[in-house]
Amino acid sequence: VDGNIQHDMEKLANTYPGFRQRYRLIKRIGEGTFSTVYKAEDLQYDRYDNSWDLDKDNEKWSPPPLKTYSAQSSMAFDATQSMEQVRRRKPKFVAIKKIYVTSSPTRILNELELLHDLRNCPSVCPLVTAFRSTDQVVAILPYFRHMDFRQYFRKMTPPDMAIYLRSLFTALSFVHARHILHRDIKPTNFLYDPDTQRGVLVDFGLAEREGVESKPCTCHDDPVARKTKLRAALHASLAPHNGYPKQDTRPSRRANRAGTRGFRAPEVLFKCTEQTTKIDIWSVGVILLTILSRRFPFFNSADDVEAMIEIATIFGQKRMRHAGQLHGCMFETTIPTVGSQGFSLERIILWSTCRSDTGEVLSDNEKQAVEFLNRCMELDPSRRISADEALQHPFLQMGLD
Ligand code: ADP
Ligand code: MG
Repeated sequence: VDGNIQHDMEKLANTYPGFRQRYRLIKRIGEGTFSTVYKAEDLQYDRYDNSWDLDKDNEKWSPPPLKTYSAQSSMAFDATQSMEQVRRRKPKFVAIKKIYVTSSPTRILNELELLHDLRNCPSVCPLVTAFRSTDQVVAILPYFRHMDFRQYFRKMTPPDMAIYLRSLFTALSFVHARHILHRDIKPTNFLYDPDTQRGVLVDFGLAEREGVESKPCTCHDDPVARKTKLRAALHASLAPHNGYPKQDTRPSRRANRAGTRGFRAPEVLFKCTEQTTKIDIWSVGVILLTILSRRFPFFNSADDVEAMIEIATIFGQKRMRHAGQLHGCMFETTIPTVGSQGFSLERIILWSTCRSDTGEVLSDNEKQAVEFLNRCMELDPSRRISADEALQHPFLQMGLD
């Protein structure tokens, strides 16, 4: 373990009285924009009898231990245990998420609250407990064994993809049923173990409740009402001028753009003010496109405008213009690589897997995957497949009897 990490681990262990008696920090396993995550051994595992484990049918997390952390209660050994019992004890690991002190208290509370709401979902990593010392908050989660996405995605066959996505959509179906948007679906936030073929969703740091910060957007109107509004807005902004309005009196649009570049849905890029759980489905589509094309990251834009160009290159100007209009946006570009019609996802996948020159075609299973991918990457969120519908789709039923 390198010196800096060792130093940070020492510091963390000193922040909370009794920490060392309760946890043994092993290594750093993640460092993100908002937190550092460590793997640790829970030295008191035996003392709260298997709590956060899944039940025997893998269906439910058993209730989390509602044991309050205190310095007095932390003893490394239970005096009633024989040395043999102590030795045979299977080490139980936890992930300790140290949330950066620069995160706002509301944000931290939001993440912990949502995790609490989702505690009964077997495919959402539950919160064991959390504690705070002045401005430092740590969340304790059961450690979930997983493999780095980049190590296995190129080897996935269509049945592997179906199993992976079934696990991810099961989590999303649960989250969306509670009207929660995850907002940051991407491989590093879905911990998957190819051996057991199980995955858990983590990182609700950007998640939000549907509708809480929404303002009506024309994408929720019927097409006729939308057209009328769009025309009225155009007239109002262009009337006294010729071309781009010099004094734009329209209120500036504020929309939540949180998420990771490359995974943002078109409606997020178009600053839709009434975003729904469908934004997560688009991001899953990007994951599937990554797997099918064997390219990671698939989209690699520096900003939202570049991201729109990347999407427009695939879908074409015509469909992109229509997608923008849904949210009251005009989409125009003179970039020559952005054609009017775009390309089919099948073509894109054949290109990126170097099969277009050889005249090879997609296998039947791949075709089914692409058909499903088209449903996830619908530019219009209201037409995009939902998590529940996805679970019923023939592609995700692959291999099930
Ligand atoms: P951030 O907000 O910093 O992205 P995450 O919650 O996504 O934090 O965690 C960052 C990384 O830490 C994950 O990508 C994963 O590698 C690791 N990690 C997080 N939670 C767990 C867990 N419960 N078990 C194992 N590893 C985890
Ligand atoms: Mg993360």
